[in-house]
Formats: sequence, C-alpha cells, structure tokens
Amino acid sequence: MSSTPVAVVTGSNKGIGLAIVRALCGRFPGHVYLTARDPGRGQEAVAKLQQEGLQAFFHQLDIDDLQSIKALRDFLKEKYGGLDVLVNNAGIAFKVQDTTPFAVQAEVTLKTNFFGTRNVCTELLPLMKPYGRVVNVSSMVSSSALRGCSQPLQQQFRSDTITEEELVQLMNKFVEDTKKGVHDKEGWPNTAYGVSKIGVTVLSRIQARMLNEQRKGDHILLNACCPGWVRTDMAGPKATKSPDEGAETPVYLALLPSDADVPHGQFVIDKTVQPW
Ligand code: NAP
Repeated sequence: MSSTPVAVVTGSNKGIGLAIVRALCGRFPGHVYLTARDPGRGQEAVAKLQQEGLQAFFHQLDIDDLQSIKALRDFLKEKYGGLDVLVNNAGIAFKVQDTTPFAVQAEVTLKTNFFGTRNVCTELLPLMKPYGRVVNVSSMVSSSALRGCSQPLQQQFRSDTITEEELVQLMNKFVEDTKKGVHDKEGWPNTAYGVSKIGVTVLSRIQARMLNEQRKGDHILLNACCPGWVRTDMAGPKATKSPDEGAETPVYLALLPSDADVPHGQFVIDKTVQPW
C-alpha cells in the first residue's frame, strides 16, 4: 500500500474540474486523480496535462452510477489506504433555452448534482484520512434559490439540526412536487439547478457537523464553495472568469494548511465565508 497522499477531483475531464486538477498537480504533494465518466475523455485530458508537463492519474468515475463510485472507493482503499483530498466538482445544468419539461429537468439535475454527489460522499468520506480536505462545488445560485424558497423551507435549509435524511426527503419532495405541478404552491423556486445546489450547500453543512461529532480529533475540513461565473461549456463564453481563476477557491479549500481549523462547514466565494 502506498503512503503517498492522494487527491480526487470528480468530473475533471474539462472545465473547472480540469483546472482544479491542473492547479493541484503543481501544488499538492501527492498523486492527483483526474476522474471522468467517459474514459476516453478522461485519458485525453490527462494527455493534455502531460503536454503541459503535469502528471495526473486517471480513474473512471460516473457519479450517477453507484458501482462506479464503489469501484473507485475500493481502488483508493487498496492502493492508498484512504483519501486526503476530495473535490466534488461534477455537475450538470440545463441551458436556459432548453425546452425539456421542468419536472424532467428537476429529476435529472437533482440526480447528478445532489444525489450523485451525496453517494460519492457516502462512499468516500469514511476513507478520509486525518487532516483530509473535502470541497463540494456548489454555486452562488444556491443562495439566490434559498431566498426564493418559502419561509418554512428557508428555515429548514438554514437549520443547524436538519439531518441528512430530512434533506434527502426535501430534495425528493421537490422532484415529486414538480411532477405534480405544485412546486410553486409548495414554496419552491423555479430553478432545478438552484434547488440541487441548495442541496449541495446544506449537505456540506450537515457533513461538517457530523465530522465534528464523530471525528473531532481528525482535523478534517469540509466546505462548500462557488467558483464564480466561469467560462466553461456550462456557463458559456460570456462568463467573467477563466477556468483557472474559477479553480482558485476550490483549490484554496482543498489545500488548507494542516494547522487551519477554519473554514469548516461554510459556503465560500472568492476565498471568503458567506452568510447562509
Ligand atoms: P462543465 O464544463 O460542463 O463540466 C462539468 C463536468 O462534470 C464535466 O467533466 C462532466 O463530464 C462532469 N459530469 C457531469 N455529470 C457527471 C457524472 N454523472 N459523473 C461524472 N462526471 C460528470 O461545467 P463547469 O462549469 O466546469 O462546472 C463544474 C462545477 O462547477 C459544477 O458543479 C457546476 O455546477 C459548478 N459551477 C459552475 C459555474 C460556472 O460559472 N461555470 C458557476 C457555479 C458553479 P462530461 O464531459 O462527461 O459531461
């Protein structure tokens, strides 16, 4: 078993994820895994970094596929005995002009952005080594979507005692409410992406609390962040940041020094903790 530190970035064959891997290759003292659902696209990205003089390793990972997540978990356990840095970056968004029915957009978006990310956490968080760092890439849209929720929903999402099971129930309820055409009446905002990212931010707050309760002495720091508005296939060419600039806050959180005990359980934009 290797004692080399190891970092994993999900959805990193392109966009912000690839930029996070690029930055980590230069700064993380260990092996950096670029993961992708499609091995061809993943290997191509590794080769691109190699041309830049950077060495990343590849492992397949489709966060929609529990078997794929478990295969990565077993590989990390066997080869490294755990994990030092996890960046949950993989995500999807329907384009504004997409005419797919809202209920379908809700189900598909939540499946990857919330449930897929949660499944990765369920399988990989137990592997985190002491002083590990976990970064969940959310979005500032999670804050605006939160403000668009009814008061009772806002209260639940801001609660310091909400459990993961209660959050999962709420995310499932959103999908069901869109199918019944009652999401508006039930107090949800009109954005499936926004609700999925509320889920990611609240999940991060819950997970940080669980780490405090269950692994206090291990100094693991877990945060959610927004990379900013970044020129990628998701956000388009008009966005203000380059992918490398978008990677700065996630990488800052992934490389928080071992003597840091904050931020933890926070939502961070431009390396600054935001109110939730
Ligand atoms: P992107 O260019 O579209 O890249 C998304 C990445 O996620 C791709 O590598 C994609 O793989 C991967 N992915 C999607 N579904 C996956 C799955 N089921 N399993 C594994 N990988 C999957 O988007 P981006 O702008 O870099 O976004 C990265 C993250 O930042 C997302 O979580 C996004 O919500 C967040 N974000 C972006 C912005 C922005 O302005 N760009 C702002 C706020 C937050 P494929 O190539 O196979 O599709």
